[in-house]
Amino acid sequence: MDCLFCKIVSGEIPSTIVYQDEDCVAFRDINPQAPTHVLVIPRQHFASLSEAAQNPALLGHLLSVCAGIAKAEGIAEDGYRVVTNIGTNGAQSVKHLHFHVLGGRKMTEEMA
Ligand code: AMP
Repeated sequence: MDCLFCKIVSGEIPSTIVYQDEDCVAFRDINPQAPTHVLVIPRQHFASLSEAAQNPALLGHLLSVCAGIAKAEGIAEDGYRVVTNIGTNGAQSVKHLHFHVLGGRKMTEEMA
């Protein structure tokens, strides 16, 4: 499958990995929008959250990893944001489920 994030999972495309386990990989965003900007993705390909909705254990694990990364990055105490974009109106550019972990600065109050 011609998927950028599947290629990051396989190592075909290099990334700065900050955490990995048998179900997921977390790496630094190539175009960070905040001092800390990490992407948490499942190893298994799902196009988006919608496609992964029947896998609550995996989704819970991914969110747990997001929280663990925030702690490890030292952004948990001041607060941070976890975001996943879905489809066209969600402005999703890479069609492999990913959670953005953003922190290290005050986020804007807008949802978009
Ligand atoms: P989204 O717009 O929610 O689909 O987010 C996709 C994210 O992937 C963006 O924040 C990009 O900067 C990021 N991205 C794209 N290519 C790479 C890459 N090769 N390594 C790390 N992050 C990437």
